[in-house]
Amino acid sequence: MNSKERIKLLSDLVAIQSVNNHEAEVAEYLKMVFRRHQIPAQIINYQPGRANLVVEIGHGHPITVFSGHADVVDPGGDWSTPPFVLTEKNRKLYGRGACDMKSALAAMVIAMLDLHEQADPFPGTVRFLLTVGEEVGEYGAEQLTNEGYMKDVDALIIGEPTGYEICYAHKGSLDVQITAMGTIAHSSMPQLGNNALQNLLDLIEVINHQIQTVSATDPAMGDFLFNFTVLNGGTQVNSIPGTAGVSLNARTIDEFDNAAVLNILRTAIAQLEQQDSKYNFDLNVLMDLPPVDGHAENQLVQRGQEVGQAVTGQTITTFGGTYTTDAAKFLVNKSQDFPFMIFGPGNQSLHSSNEYIEKSMYFNFVDIYKKLMINNGITH
Ligand SMILES: [Zn+2]
Repeated sequence: MNSKERIKLLSDLVAIQSVNNHEAEVAEYLKMVFRRHQIPAQIINYQPGRANLVVEIGHGHPITVFSGHADVVDPGGDWSTPPFVLTEKNRKLYGRGACDMKSALAAMVIAMLDLHEQADPFPGTVRFLLTVGEEVGEYGAEQLTNEGYMKDVDALIIGEPTGYEICYAHKGSLDVQITAMGTIAHSSMPQLGNNALQNLLDLIEVINHQIQTVSATDPAMGDFLFNFTVLNGGTQVNSIPGTAGVSLNARTIDEFDNAAVLNILRTAIAQLEQQDSKYNFDLNVLMDLPPVDGHAENQLVQRGQEVGQAVTGQTITTFGGTYTTDAAKFLVNKSQDFPFMIFGPGNQSLHSSNEYIEKSMYFNFVDIYKKLMINNGITH
């Protein structure tokens, strides 16, 4: 595919406003692109308007998954170019999703089409998995994993924006909402009520006390993090509130994982509920993504460094990430030794206004992915 066609493909993808929804349009568009090259593609519906896509070339093992998500985050304001019109300025391509992560999707697709077109021999199977809802809970990755698309896989490459660096491990993420139930009363007669907000504050204090004793750090992923993020309760200044709620997010590591956090929360709730019948809490897990712990020394990562250096002339370093990705769902039943890496075109402009990708980096990743498809470094 020549450079004009490469830009056109990315521009078409950016034009689809897949803000945590409408991913079906991305899936349908890519299905059509593959069909034009006589490659069948399978739509896997998630919900009306939301669909994953599965495409394979080659046959047998090793099976290497190349994956990326179709959704983008809301563009917000403050753009100097229209966010859904890919715009080139100073060899940079601006647009929502240019960095996270439609340039990676385009690079993967082009690499597959080129390989197919040129009839380049490559071992095994390249399986492209396009997912929905990555930015909000890895819905598509969970669905595809449940439906068996990761079962026979030998290696996983996710094209999230790392730039010329490879991420081999990342933190988990846990979202929890806790509601305190009480009884509404006039504030002049509090004995007739049960102050849910006060009860919730008591619980927060117990939880804080416990969390402050935790000090856990992972050599690759960094520190365990815990934050209360949303607090609400009460409707009127002279009423005893009948309900109150708090939400929290924890960024977990192997040394202090999601189960350990939930244990602290549930123990604190049980402790108060046993202590006094006025305490009555409801705990709801909104999102539960485990940490992904890989090795920088795995053959896939080493091959990624080798290929990246060959294409760019730069040294490709490795790191542990603080964010979460679809890998949290894709790798649920895999061992720590499973060949996995996150390696995709990108920079720090993701999720911000004036998101962009350098044109050269986008093009380089077509070559990087093509080389990885021909040889992923795994001895099988
Ligand atoms: Zn992303």
